[in-house]
Amino acid sequence: MSFNEEIAKRRTFGIIAHPDAGKTTLTEKLLLFGGAIQEAGAVKSNKIKKGATSDFMEIERQRGISVATSVLAFIYKDKKINILDTPGHKDFAEDTFRTLTAVDSVIVVVDVAKGVEEQTEKLVEVCRMRKIPMIVFINKLDREGKDAFDLMDEVEQKLKLRVTPLSFPIGMGYDFKGIYNIWEKNINLFEGDSRKNIEETIAISDLDSPQLEEIIGSKPANTLREELELIHEVYPQFNKEEYLAGDLQPVFFGSALNNFGVRELLDCFVDIAPTPRAKESDTRLVQPDEEKLSGFVFKIHANMDPKHRDRIAFVKVVSGTFERNKPYLHVRLGKNLKFSSPNAFFAEKKEIVDISYPGDIVGLHDTGNFKIGDTLTEGELMNFKGIPSFSPEHFRYINNADPLKAKQLEKGIDQLMDEGVAQLFTLEMNGRKIIGTVGALQYEVIQYRLEHEYGAKCTYENFPAFKACWVKPKDPKNTEFAEFKRVKQKFLGHDKYGQLVFLADSDFSIQMTQQKYPSVELFFTSDYQ
Ligand code: GDP
Repeated sequence: MSFNEEIAKRRTFGIIAHPDAGKTTLTEKLLLFGGAIQEAGAVKSNKIKKGATSDFMEIERQRGISVATSVLAFIYKDKKINILDTPGHKDFAEDTFRTLTAVDSVIVVVDVAKGVEEQTEKLVEVCRMRKIPMIVFINKLDREGKDAFDLMDEVEQKLKLRVTPLSFPIGMGYDFKGIYNIWEKNINLFEGDSRKNIEETIAISDLDSPQLEEIIGSKPANTLREELELIHEVYPQFNKEEYLAGDLQPVFFGSALNNFGVRELLDCFVDIAPTPRAKESDTRLVQPDEEKLSGFVFKIHANMDPKHRDRIAFVKVVSGTFERNKPYLHVRLGKNLKFSSPNAFFAEKKEIVDISYPGDIVGLHDTGNFKIGDTLTEGELMNFKGIPSFSPEHFRYINNADPLKAKQLEKGIDQLMDEGVAQLFTLEMNGRKIIGTVGALQYEVIQYRLEHEYGAKCTYENFPAFKACWVKPKDPKNTEFAEFKRVKQKFLGHDKYGQLVFLADSDFSIQMTQQKYPSVELFFTSDYQ
């Protein structure tokens, strides 16, 4: 197969959802269709459950699983499909944001009863800003839920999307009869007991034909006809170009648990979802079909195999081919590195591969060379644009609890920050270290991992900050900036790149600071340069 055919074959995407909407179940059903797994239950949920926060073994177990499910690949209709895992838990939202830099499209799962939930809103916003093509899957149709039209309104309003249904439910919950596939013009009947089978569909070329009454009964047939007419009037016609440009989002209905409506989704997905897309670097736009390799690290994960205490850096191949044992330039370090055992992912396994193509994810064993966002090339000096750090929401001093292990603690903190587990700030005044996180859960994960992976012990102490603001003085030499630094010295620190940060204790103090020192600009993400 030629290089260009390999590219055309690939579909790399992520499933985003609020926890419990059915992301894990849908992933599993997609793998079943791909023949990559034989039975339901093989894909483990990697979500951290409520109440498990203090159970370290649980965190460990969950983390182990999430390494395994970081990338799931399978073949369907000759397409190589790579699903990138995106944790739904709020405390791991940054992880998901970073993964979204590596996907070419997404499927958004919405619970039919709960509608659009908070995490979905946040994640979709990031996708919308980046113009990532999205398909919406409304799940759990076997349950009583909201009216399909109301739900589509909600999706449009809350997620600020422009939708058009490509399938439509016939009844819902108790009266759920099946799905009319607008895309393929056929009906898929829901039979409670055909749960694991891949169902047969009934082609309906003419909706006015009495055949429809025979299949679903006269009342539902009339309702369906009316609804489809309304859809025709109200929603835009599906247009692939608009979808690919991020301007139109098709909607599917189904029940992942019952394996229902999933085939329609997948068939349409392989048909319309984008092949690996071009990516912007700091110097130019890189096209996937360029001959030379380029790629970037979007995720780093500690290896949970106790025999190999190294880490895995996940690289998305943007252009060219990634080959085993070939030297590539690590742009930030300015040195060439070779990889003797790059991993590819297939279903829930990983294996060593000789060659990977654009769209693929390669797992590299790493002993500390990589940070999130690092770029690999064949010599070109460029860096792919990542996603900025957002201000953490929790702040705590980290203290060394075992004076003999100071080195280990430092190394551990350093590496965990490179993995993007949390953000480190060093106070200007006294050099004390502060860890900022998105959720309180990360403190336990960090403490546990420092002890088990680095042999270091730490304790925490509250630091009364509320938000990190990156500081940029319009004139670093003026007296206003000097005054700001003197007055706020207790709250000033540096992030890991040495950028000045003001750790404000309230919204009020941010406002006061902006009023009092107008020439000192405050930014809420790290990429203000
Ligand atoms: P995730 O947190 O988004 O990964 O959600 P899961 O896939 O773990 O699903 C959450 C719960 O919803 C589980 O108990 C699933 O069995 C259930 N679930 C998923 N899909 C469906 C569905 O189509 N119908 C019903 N009734 N339950 C579902």
